[in-house]
Amino acid sequence: MNPTPTSNPVLIAHSREVGELLGIDPEWFASEQAARVLGGSELLPGMQPFAACYGGHQFGNWAGQLGDGRAINLGEMIATDGKHWTLQLKGPGRTPYSRSGDGLAVLRSSLREFLCSEAMHHLGVPTTRALSLVLSGDLVTRDMFYDGHPRKEPGAIVCRVAPTFTRFGNFEILTARQEIDNLRKLVDFTIAADFPHLELNSPDLYRDWFEEVCVRTAQMVVHWMRVGFVHGVMNTDNMSILGQTIDYGPYGWMDGYEPNWTPNTTDAAGRRYAFGNQGEIAHWNLLQLANALWPLFEQEAPLQHGLNRYVDVYQASFQTMMANKLGFKHFESETDAELIKELDKILQRTETDMTLFYRSLSAIKLDGIQVGELRDLVTPQWVGELLRSAYYGSEPDPSGVLNDTAHWMQRYLRRLMQDGRCDSERSEQMNSNNPLYVLRNYLAQQAIDAAEAGDYREIENLLELLRKPYQEQAGKEAYCKRRPDWARHKAGCSMLSCSS
Ligand code: AMP
Ligand code: MG
Repeated sequence: MNPTPTSNPVLIAHSREVGELLGIDPEWFASEQAARVLGGSELLPGMQPFAACYGGHQFGNWAGQLGDGRAINLGEMIATDGKHWTLQLKGPGRTPYSRSGDGLAVLRSSLREFLCSEAMHHLGVPTTRALSLVLSGDLVTRDMFYDGHPRKEPGAIVCRVAPTFTRFGNFEILTARQEIDNLRKLVDFTIAADFPHLELNSPDLYRDWFEEVCVRTAQMVVHWMRVGFVHGVMNTDNMSILGQTIDYGPYGWMDGYEPNWTPNTTDAAGRRYAFGNQGEIAHWNLLQLANALWPLFEQEAPLQHGLNRYVDVYQASFQTMMANKLGFKHFESETDAELIKELDKILQRTETDMTLFYRSLSAIKLDGIQVGELRDLVTPQWVGELLRSAYYGSEPDPSGVLNDTAHWMQRYLRRLMQDGRCDSERSEQMNSNNPLYVLRNYLAQQAIDAAEAGDYREIENLLELLRKPYQEQAGKEAYCKRRPDWARHKAGCSMLSCSS
């Protein structure tokens, strides 16, 4: 299954870190060959392209066979870390699984996938990586909002990189077809290739493997919750068996904190994949995987064990994550569970930027202040000033928001004082868990608008900025501001479709 050659491949961006990881000569990326290979027009010796077959549960229903309709694996490389990494082109033309699709991808979605993969990596979120972004030179017709307004858009191809691109759906399709021998082969292969630390001769091998998939998935989603990422399409065909974020489509970053928010217009009615549902949905997806693995277990206990572990690990990781965000030494259930619950409400009282809110908290200075002074210090006005950069409304106190927030803040600061740590120690912990720069939807859209006009500099700017998302960078003030008003309802900035 070879990629389809394109008319004029041009490499417009690449990740130097992924290049280094793979041991690729940095100069190679400037060559015509790089654009041809990474755009699917030329195969290098040893490449044996293939597309994978998978099924999936989409929006809660079994959708039958899907498969790599527009992704082609070029092969594996042994990288400088001694491990194997698969290179996969997304958007290189039709495959046996394309169904009615053209197998192509457009610049806007490819650019978003390229940048977000790398941004997530630098945030410390498990993710597939992106090596390159190539313009194909061909035009691709898409009806962005499925409303009868198709337009021709520049085609593009991302080269994604991961140890494997195997998804839950690769297992599901085999069980659905009663290909149990193949199911066993795929599980054994996956374990041998990607879970080599598991004890192959153990009678509990499959149980341990499923448990690890559950644990990794839990940890991944907790990271999403930490940084304010909404995947947007958590179908089981978009769930990596490695617990890595995969398939960047209509994803989004929360600007104003809103657990019910999803950027995906296709999911606007049901909000199945909204921010606050992601933990439960991943569990549901693991249940579908457990069902698919049933023929290899034929008993409930080991599968239930993994699912239970998911719940436990999710809860414990979530609590630790919140403690880190808030600057507590440890999560103390007696005080912190209630504080966090209240915070969730406070953040929704008035539109509050999630990213900027947490960074504002870490700027609070408590050194030299006594508990008794908090009541006088933490007034609604003080809160208003502290959180000014995070509030979207111009008058954030129409209904006592600042008053209520001040109450919460007093309890919160008392809690911080209990830990007895100095400001610098606490803020260091907070600032390494709360990013300052995230790939806000409108920032990606600006890079897209410029790129569609032939200017690729903003891709490079964002790539560079997002290499150090936790570190304040001189001259980059514009990138850590609230989403501007003009972007509130603009396509691509606040809402996205699956059309890509
Ligand atoms: P997604 O919603 O992007 O995860 O895609 C769901 C399924 O549709 C996957 O099997 C994709 O490979 C397939 N698909 C999406 N877009 C195209 C396309 N343009 N051509 C062929 N298959 C596609
Ligand atoms: Mg997909």
